[in-house]
Amino acid sequence: MPVEAARRPATLDERIVEYVESVVRPQAAQMARGDEQRFPRYVIEEAGRLGLCGLLVPKVHGGSAGTHLDFARLIEATACACASTAVILDVQASVAIEPLVQFGSEDQRRRYLPRLTRGEWLGAFALSEPGSGSDAASLQTRAEHIDAGYRLTGTKMWITNAGAADLYLVMARTGGEGARGISAFLVEAERPGVRPGRPLRKLGLRGSWTAELHLDGVEVPAGNLLGAEGAGFRIAMTALDSGRIGISAQAVGIAQGALDVAVERIRSSGDRAVGDLDLLMATDAALRFAATGPLADMEAQVASSRQLTHHAAALCDAGRPFTREAAVAKLWSTEACVAVASTAVDLCAPDSTDEWHPAAVRLRDARACTIYEGTSQVQRMVIARELLRA
Ligand SMILES: Cc1cc2nc3c(=O)[nH]c(=O)nc-3n(C[C@H](O)[C@H](O)[C@H](O)COP(=O)(O)OP(=O)(O)OC[C@H]3O[C@@H](n4cnc5c(N)ncnc54)[C@H](O)[C@@H]3O)c2cc1C
Repeated sequence: MPVEAARRPATLDERIVEYVESVVRPQAAQMARGDEQRFPRYVIEEAGRLGLCGLLVPKVHGGSAGTHLDFARLIEATACACASTAVILDVQASVAIEPLVQFGSEDQRRRYLPRLTRGEWLGAFALSEPGSGSDAASLQTRAEHIDAGYRLTGTKMWITNAGAADLYLVMARTGGEGARGISAFLVEAERPGVRPGRPLRKLGLRGSWTAELHLDGVEVPAGNLLGAEGAGFRIAMTALDSGRIGISAQAVGIAQGALDVAVERIRSSGDRAVGDLDLLMATDAALRFAATGPLADMEAQVASSRQLTHHAAALCDAGRPFTREAAVAKLWSTEACVAVASTAVDLCAPDSTDEWHPAAVRLRDARACTIYEGTSQVQRMVIARELLRA
């Protein structure tokens, strides 16, 4: 038996625990600070070694053939320890890989999936642009026909993993205005004209690179078109539909992490007087009592977020419609995550005002969850549209 296979733990739960406890958690504090010079490749290499990059990939293509429920559990556990790592892994295993599985030709799957699932290659999903985020159908990046295939020109914005990725899934316009004029392309980073910007300095998630991606007349062969010409918007929206389950799980993990920090802070408070305030709550015992309400509310928010996430994942796994449920989960979980992390900062004060206190890190990390893969307002529009359609 090969050494790697011998070392691979048997069950998915064991592999998740090994990944989180041996790979993610020991580096979490370092990851939270970010490094604009060196991308943390080990995050993907180790996930690949444990079969986690290919969790949503069928066995026939070298994946682990897990479910979306499995994936939600993986992302939650990872985000609970380190949100930056969860973002990198989520983009790789979800929006970069899943469209290839669902829409790729046999040749494309053979060319790209093994390297992505083994963690040798890092993937990225490039839809947003400086002038089009929520209104993705208005994107301006162009893909013009040339003899050998297509030439891509334009600028993508806020692209996770840009600068480190080996393969970009790029949505570009091959036709007229609107959603039907958009196609999806697989663009290798080494192609001339692929020019990522420097990682942006973000509020949180600093260990995860987010950057502009300039495409300066990048030529790709016709075989790099994913799906049919004009199908790019549908491919992107399909990816984001299930992608929302991953973001929702990420939010659950961040919130659980913040709750754990708050519980530990309250539990470890002794019976010393905390001040000479001449108020009722002047001892740690009284503070512990005062914290019961916020802690219980936080637990209710985390538990309900997890249930909504798992419900959407289970529908997706059962092949049933899940667009509305995934949007509900993403809306609820990400908003709850910000609230829970904010309460954790309150409960851990004044220590939590330190920039690198774990509650402070989680509050900053939480903030982007309500924005990417569709803002909360966009989720509300999706939910209302689905309700009115029904
Ligand atoms: C950390 C991070 C990572 C990201 N990673 C990626 C990635 O890997 N790939 C990628 O393609 N993109 C990525 N994005 C981009 C992200 O998906 C967009 O930022 C998001 O979709 C919002 O688009 P926008 O920034 O253009 O904001 P806008 O669409 O301009 O929205 C600005 C505000 O207006 C509101 N709004 C917009 N339209 C309406 C409307 N019709 N009605 C009411 N309110 C409205 C929004 O809710 C929001 O509050 C990332 C973003 C962040 C912050």
